[in-house]
Amino acid sequence: MTTRREFLASVPAALAAFAVADRLVLDAPPARAQQIDPLRGHFHPKGKAPSSHTLEVLRKAKQTLPLSDTRDFEEQKRGFIAPMKSLKIMADAGHVAWDMERFQFLDEQEEFDSIHASLLRQSKLNNNYGLYEVVPGIYQVRGFDLSDLTFVRGKTGWIVFDPLVTGEVVRAAWDLFQEHVGEGLPVSAVIYSHTHGDHWGGVRGIVDEADVRSGKIPIIAPADFMEFTVSENVYAGNAMNRRLFYQYGLLLPASPHGYVGQGLGQAVSAGATGLIAPTKYVEKDIEELDVDGVRMIFQNTPNTEAPREMNTYIPDLKALWMAENVIASLHNIYTLRGAQVRDPLRWSKYIGEALYRFGVEAEIMFASHHWPRWGNERIQEVLRGQRDLYANMNNQVLHLANQGVTISEIHNVYQVPKGLQAKWDCRGYHGSPQHNSRGVIQRYLGFWDCNPTSLIPLSPADSAPLYVEMMGGAEKIMSRGRELHDEGRYLLASEILNKLVQAEPDNEAAKDLLADVFEQLGYQQENPGLRNSFLAAAYELRSGIPEGETADSSSPDVIRAMSTELFLNFLGIRMDSRKAEGMRFTMNLITPDNGEKFVVELDNATLTNIKGFLAEKPDLTLTINRADLEQTMIGAKALDAQIADGTANVEGDPSILKKLAATMVDFDPRFEIMPGTKTRRPEMTGYVESGISGTASPYEAVPRQTIAE
Ligand SMILES: [Zn+2]
Repeated sequence: MTTRREFLASVPAALAAFAVADRLVLDAPPARAQQIDPLRGHFHPKGKAPSSHTLEVLRKAKQTLPLSDTRDFEEQKRGFIAPMKSLKIMADAGHVAWDMERFQFLDEQEEFDSIHASLLRQSKLNNNYGLYEVVPGIYQVRGFDLSDLTFVRGKTGWIVFDPLVTGEVVRAAWDLFQEHVGEGLPVSAVIYSHTHGDHWGGVRGIVDEADVRSGKIPIIAPADFMEFTVSENVYAGNAMNRRLFYQYGLLLPASPHGYVGQGLGQAVSAGATGLIAPTKYVEKDIEELDVDGVRMIFQNTPNTEAPREMNTYIPDLKALWMAENVIASLHNIYTLRGAQVRDPLRWSKYIGEALYRFGVEAEIMFASHHWPRWGNERIQEVLRGQRDLYANMNNQVLHLANQGVTISEIHNVYQVPKGLQAKWDCRGYHGSPQHNSRGVIQRYLGFWDCNPTSLIPLSPADSAPLYVEMMGGAEKIMSRGRELHDEGRYLLASEILNKLVQAEPDNEAAKDLLADVFEQLGYQQENPGLRNSFLAAAYELRSGIPEGETADSSSPDVIRAMSTELFLNFLGIRMDSRKAEGMRFTMNLITPDNGEKFVVELDNATLTNIKGFLAEKPDLTLTINRADLEQTMIGAKALDAQIADGTANVEGDPSILKKLAATMVDFDPRFEIMPGTKTRRPEMTGYVESGISGTASPYEAVPRQTIAE
């Protein structure tokens, strides 16, 4: 009697026979794979139609939607005054800054078999554009950018809330407004509701900076606005920009099989961004101001949708401006492009406070995205739903976490309560319950699921070859992957195909099959960020990452808004520590015009700075006015040139600056995300250029885009 183990160990021939048999099985043709042909009319030559499984998922999802509630459509069109004159707005630089023509297809059909009915509904709602009356004295231009532009009648002119992303679209909106209701009156004040780029980037399109400096036009913003406006996007800016290719689908053509809007709005405009610093900060929790003769009560709501944000109540009009704290969607607690996780409990509480402070009497509620709500009952309904949405996500996710549900499982366990799912504004057109629930766990417990296997895991590329080997090689995985694909079990298919692609980045067939799987998953999503991410990954797997030079959208205004400390911190991030091994120096930096001083040290291959101190025996002292340093920060004048012409003064060893410059690295704005996509596959076309390129000088600060949200 031998055990099975002894048998196998003692009979090599038998083992060989097994192997042969195994091999025979392997070489046999796989179970009849469904041949999916490329879809005619798809923007990509390898693009596929939605499968029968996807159609079924979408059909079932549609049945759960509260389609009988059509109030959003009535509210969206209420108060319409005039349409947008031209569906395209040109940028001053000559390219198209805004294009609504590409979204016309959304209105040409009732349904699309490749778009989730709920997402399509939201995109149709966002497909309205023009000038609207909110109530007499308050007007909005919608559909000219990701966000809305709002005008409130003041005593001497128009108070502007949130001037969009870029100047060109703001100008076009202002022209339309003036043509119909503006009465030729000027802008009398500007309010930035919060720190995200889609709420101030177009200010130069409507305001002359001289009028702000002279005090003629105040700009009002929440406390610490400037500090947080830039800082959120600088340190990890390049990574965030790259991830925007996924979340915002920057490469995807607008198409039933591609980009269908962003939920918050159709897209982000591509003109010129600028930033004029506020002249008046709202410091108190609740603060009343007279703004051009209009009584406004501001409610600061820090660390909610943005690090600094404020709601505004106009008591004489019973009008409540909810900034971006309450919009027609579940918002992001975690943002797929990458951001620090927000505080949903605090967010919920500020909405609750707005409800009890203003919402009990408000008759109109409006915001920086989407459309207003009329009537107190409706306002209270929306505020209560939104309050409970964020609180539930916080509380119930933590409830589950306290029972052992991990960050790797929570999105499959947590569900938004049914009552909230039945409210359109609580559905996920920006945040999704899936990625938000994971975000809540990340906020409180971090990335680790507490299984030691995931404590110091191998990198995917290092572990994948063993999986591939153990699964019996590429052909077997492809065969099983195709079966799972054909059965509509796309998440399982993506698990094993991803392992193969990680192990064999040059395996074109594997990348194509994984792309097919991602594409079906993309079509099935209600949330545009999830849809775009799957479709963007499919795109890059099929075509590689597009190269090509396009306009650089970095804005000198934004870089000027960086504090010197933030700039020095960022240099520490741009420096490749591996190039600085063995280097050591101490430098004093003095900027006389703003009275700041820093000690900057390079030691242990690490660049640090401390504000407010100077070293006693520095290797170098660099004295330069902050105003001049900005020229170097924006890449307009090299530090060498500043020194050469005496703008900057150096004492000590100036060669330090050269050595330091040599350690600075240009981040690749198109770094690889999916394996094997770095080399573009030129035969595959159909992509849209994104606006990221360029090479930075060593001391340039390079947040290339203002990120909208
Ligand atoms: Zn926004």
